[in-house]
Amino acid sequence: MRLVLLGPPGAGKGTQAARISARHGVPAISTGQLFDQQISAGTALGRRAEHYVRAGELVPDEIVLDMVAERLTTSVDCEVGFLLDGFPRTVPQAEALDRMLGASCGPLDLVVDLVVGEDEVLERISRRAVSEGRRDDTEQTARRRLKVFAAETAPLRSHYAEQGLLRSVDGSGSPDEVSARIEEVLAAVAHPEVRASRP
Ligand code: AMP
Repeated sequence: MRLVLLGPPGAGKGTQAARISARHGVPAISTGQLFDQQISAGTALGRRAEHYVRAGELVPDEIVLDMVAERLTTSVDCEVGFLLDGFPRTVPQAEALDRMLGASCGPLDLVVDLVVGEDEVLERISRRAVSEGRRDDTEQTARRRLKVFAAETAPLRSHYAEQGLLRSVDGSGSPDEVSARIEEVLAAVAHPEVRASRP
């Protein structure tokens, strides 16, 4: 299964990625987590990325793409697949991913778009700031990240809708409720005849 999880910061992508990964046995690859690890370890890549992450800005595409290409080529088993969380985030990243997969595992199966309203997202981010202490969860940075999402990442919806891959899932409510909605959508990938027989 080759999946992308799309959605604004605070939509619950990390929580749902962990659940999908556990349930379907596919590794979840989170670019946000990869940057966090690189920053904590003080690597050259982490030093290049840190300023952008702290400001709530996107790390430039070439840095992200190098990191993802390395991860995909070194540790992804195409038979098993993968789940991408937080990548791609710009149209050029999505186009680069299409090319990478065209030359390796084959195209994506599905893009799950977690849809959550701005007020709920801001509330979740401020709760998370208290409980997890992320390095980019101040209110000002959260607002900036939402603006960046609207400008840079939301256009990916049309990119994937044109490819017939986009499935929007209501991301409001409890993690269990959201998981159940996602599983319904994923069932169509595991059992394509269900999808084919629907009007
Ligand atoms: P996340 O945990 O996915 O919200 O990512 C945290 C931060 O890491 C983002 O605000 C960006 O600064 C950076 N980041 C993560 N993924 C990407 C990406 N695909 N492109 C650019 N920057 C990214």
